[in-house]
Amino acid sequence: MSDFNFDTLAIRAGNDPSSFQEHSEALFLTSSFTFKSAEEAAARFAGDEKAHFYSRVSNPTVACFQDRLAVLEGGGACVATATGMAAILAVMLGVLKAGDHVVSSRSIFGTSTHLFSNYLTKFGVDFDFVELSDLDAWKQAVKPNTRLFFAETPSNPTTELVDIKALSEIAHQSDALLVIDNVFCTPVLQKPLQLGADIVVHSATKYIDGQGRCMGGAVVGNNKLVGEDIFGVLRNGGMSMSPFNAWVFNKGLETLSLRMQRHCQNAMELACWLDKHPKIEKVYYPGLASHPQHELAKRQQSDFGGMVSFVVKGGKDAAWKIVNSLKMLSITANLGDTKTTITHPATTTHGRLSQEQRDAADISDGLLRISVGLEDIRDIKHDLSHGLEG
Ligand SMILES: *Cc1c(COP(=O)(O)O)cnc(C)c1O
Repeated sequence: MSDFNFDTLAIRAGNDPSSFQEHSEALFLTSSFTFKSAEEAAARFAGDEKAHFYSRVSNPTVACFQDRLAVLEGGGACVATATGMAAILAVMLGVLKAGDHVVSSRSIFGTSTHLFSNYLTKFGVDFDFVELSDLDAWKQAVKPNTRLFFAETPSNPTTELVDIKALSEIAHQSDALLVIDNVFCTPVLQKPLQLGADIVVHSATKYIDGQGRCMGGAVVGNNKLVGEDIFGVLRNGGMSMSPFNAWVFNKGLETLSLRMQRHCQNAMELACWLDKHPKIEKVYYPGLASHPQHELAKRQQSDFGGMVSFVVKGGKDAAWKIVNSLKMLSITANLGDTKTTITHPATTTHGRLSQEQRDAADISDGLLRISVGLEDIRDIKHDLSHGLEG
């Protein structure tokens, strides 16, 4: 199907109807598959015959999701995982060994920081955290045993970017692999593999589902790295995706492009409105000309995404007042949903950090993060205005 365009592939790639010729992708809710003979069982276990035999290893509904996402990201292989964190863990287990060193952006999903600093270090892997957009800092952090670079762009919650192409060149000069967490953009807005990254990780829980129902994740890259090494971690480690969840994500991918367009459109309008509001000190959105990396965002992404953060004048009290005056927006840390969600990072997602760490990451007490949903933008603005008045 490779001669089709993105929106067609998002709907049709990976579909492999059964003998019933069902039109909509079927849900194969089965843990195992039977064999016609002892010979067939032996051949399938040995890998001589490619077929599904146990859903920890492979399943037709999950395979549809993997093939579809691989095509959309432009990768040779994709493996689906139980959650986004399982995808990141699978990459680390598949690529690294004791004695290896990783350079990671400091501005990554909070749980990724905990996984790296508190768990992977127990197995003899060393981490250094650097400022995401500071390419010299990445260069200087490289050691002879550096094996991997890890970054998320745009970052959460302050929408900082890194030039993926430039970062991939630095990684490759040092014989390290570049892993990009592409959750915020999805392949609709950004294709890290085409820009030089070696591996893309996803939390399908976010925009790929898009309606806040299922947990899932994915790793995309080439056949050797992802199709063999990281697949092996899943086959043996067992953090595979549930077929039910894969079925939901298959449907999610079909509308992803359409949804991302509206997320971006609503986010742009909200960012412009907040930017002009007298009670707002600062707005973080790559689509604003005032964003320090607006030009890079225009070059690297096809649109600016659905995440908008802003600092309200008056610190924590003013920020909490906005949150507590809402009548519609959901107060929850999840993102990428049709429903608009709001969080106060300093006391929730980034509450476990020290004050110094928060200052370094620009997480001020007045900061609020919004995952702009698909409701009418007039209602989103109206709901926020309750706590911004008086
Ligand atoms: C949510 C998220 C993850 C982790 O995904 P889970 O599905 O919650 O395990 C990783 N990276 C980013 C950027 C996320 O937003």
